[in-house]
Amino acid sequence: MKRSLFMLLIVAVCAGFSSAAAAADVSSTVLIEEPAVWDGRVVTFTGEAVGEAMVRGDEVWLHLNDDAYAGGSIASGALPQGYNSGLAVVVDAEDARVVTVFGDYRHQGDVVEVSGVFNAACPEHGGDMDVHATGIRVVREGAVLDHAPGTSSFVLLGIAFAAAVTAVGAYLIRRPRD
Ligand SMILES: [Zn+2]
Repeated sequence: MKRSLFMLLIVAVCAGFSSAAAAADVSSTVLIEEPAVWDGRVVTFTGEAVGEAMVRGDEVWLHLNDDAYAGGSIASGALPQGYNSGLAVVVDAEDARVVTVFGDYRHQGDVVEVSGVFNAACPEHGGDMDVHATGIRVVREGAVLDHAPGTSSFVLLGIAFAAAVTAVGAYLIRRPRD
């Protein structure tokens, strides 16, 4: 009895290892260059959430950009490399809520890790290339980019405007009336 339990444990551990190995950590470049190799396989993919989440019923489409500059957007000075295309990922709407910041000119999006089945030409979604994510987590939270017009520039603008109004007002008051 003990022996069979031990064997069961070994089998379970091996199964655990093999399923972990099956979920290959890949980049969008690899997937785009060799779609046939990865079609239907479970992959793990990490990229910056960019654009916006598109809700389609109980599914959400995310666009994850894993280019070399995903760690620092072009706006913050990094140079563009790779395809700058990333991957479209379909996630359960409930699971997609963990992603809150999307990259654009003013934001560094959340860096998100997803795992799921890669489809070179998804029959469910009009033959597009996508990943049907079954697991999703934020590995680095996004942020507002520094160069965006901050509070200080608005304050300066306000002061300049107030000064201009005061100057014009003073001129009008002092102007001799005819
Ligand atoms: Zn699909």
